Amino acid sequence: MSDKRVRVRFAPSPTGGLHLGGVRTALFNYLFARKNNGDFVLRIEDTDQNRYVEGAEKYIIDCLNWCGITPDESPVNPGQYAPYRQSERKTLYREYAERLVMQGHAYYAFDSAEELDKNRKEIPNFQYGQVYRDTLRNSLSLPQPEVDQLLADHTPHVIRIKIPADQTVSFTDMIRGRVSFETNQLDDKVLLKADGMPTYHLAVVVDDYLMKISHAFRGEEWLPSAPIHLLLWDYLGWKADMPQWAHLPLILKPDGNGKLSKRDGARLGFPVFALDWEGAAGFDGMGFLPEAFVNFLATLGWNDGSGQEIFTMDELVSKFSIDRISKAGAKFDFEKAKWFNAEWIKRSTAETLHPKVKAVLESKGVTIKNDAYLATVIDLIKDRCTLLTDFYPQAAYFFQTPAEYDLAAVKPKWTDEKTAFFKAIIEQVKSTPTIVAADFEATFKALAEEKGLKTGDVMLPFRIMLVGGKFGPHVFDIAALLGRDETVSRIEQALAAFA
Ligand code: GLU
Repeated sequence: MSDKRVRVRFAPSPTGGLHLGGVRTALFNYLFARKNNGDFVLRIEDTDQNRYVEGAEKYIIDCLNWCGITPDESPVNPGQYAPYRQSERKTLYREYAERLVMQGHAYYAFDSAEELDKNRKEIPNFQYGQVYRDTLRNSLSLPQPEVDQLLADHTPHVIRIKIPADQTVSFTDMIRGRVSFETNQLDDKVLLKADGMPTYHLAVVVDDYLMKISHAFRGEEWLPSAPIHLLLWDYLGWKADMPQWAHLPLILKPDGNGKLSKRDGARLGFPVFALDWEGAAGFDGMGFLPEAFVNFLATLGWNDGSGQEIFTMDELVSKFSIDRISKAGAKFDFEKAKWFNAEWIKRSTAETLHPKVKAVLESKGVTIKNDAYLATVIDLIKDRCTLLTDFYPQAAYFFQTPAEYDLAAVKPKWTDEKTAFFKAIIEQVKSTPTIVAADFEATFKALAEEKGLKTGDVMLPFRIMLVGGKFGPHVFDIAALLGRDETVSRIEQALAAFA
């Protein structure tokens, strides 16, 4: 690596919700920056006004914050390379486009949209490039006086790059190694649009240069654009400053057939956004912890070679290395994402989970009066929760008497002996000042034996009395937490329903 300061950028276009592939690109940028004590820049590439979506920029920033990968420089936290929105940098791009025209690497093109449409319809595989450019209306094909006149008349025009014939353009990608392109396959991309706005190709090169970007991580879908950028770096005389590129492997649909798209989420019933976007639940809304989401994303196309799967952000920063990013696409596996979340819930302290679980319960109408009690509940049930939303069914009975019982599991086998047994239990519990789980279990079992009942035959009904269903942690722990009076009242209430 050169001794240049490490500066990376995440450069999304604000065209809608940030797809998880975009978040992974941001994450890899972030990890690389942190690992190398560099800067992580967020640049908003909003030069395509037709695709601009209100609110998308704020959404992107919120997503990055939620994931814990907050940029060091961004439109809302500008550094010395401001502005960080390309639309606000509009005026600075023309100079570079004009420089390219002067040098013969770009040209003015006056063709109207109708003329180009006509060509596209009439000529199979029409491309504005070396084969047809001489037959079109541009500063290479028209006589100079006419070009001067058209410019003097402010005739709408774009500036296009003049792709050279018969050249091979190559670069070394940090993931893919040597990559080469034939210029004969390329068309003369627009660099500056008629409204003076740059296109992505010009803006990305100019800004990576001006913002002193040292490494550029982006999705593999941008690889076909790389030769255009290479030529521009070269023509603008900046080749020595060109960032090192890494084109990240695609995130594939669960069946491995093609790139995961925004539409796949709705179709297959899993989130593709970090946060909710336009009514579609994101990983956050579905009950994922940001630590789990980030951990999951990091493993889509990267591993540290040791088989370790759970990584904290600090571990990711210290272990991240480009050598271990795979070239092959990574299949999205929602079950695996949930596994990560369950692991992260297990590893999180009750204190960390507390506000999130409280929000889940309160959104379902559960009132939390005692935060310490909730913390104990969380510790008791967190191993049973895959999503944060699971805390509602798993915890609700600690706060509310069961509204319904799984009667099918108890009623058919109910007997008067069981009623007598539970009445005796009520008396037992009433006679103790507090329930201690282990003591209560011993008493419960002894009493069952005394009454000639199998422990198993009364344990399940007891659970259903306290919980409502056949789930939850150790039943005597539940009773201890509910406390003496609540346990008694639940047994009494259930006996009336079971008998
Ligand atoms: N604006 C491009 C995008 O939306 C950025 C591609 C790049 O990083 O060069 O992904």
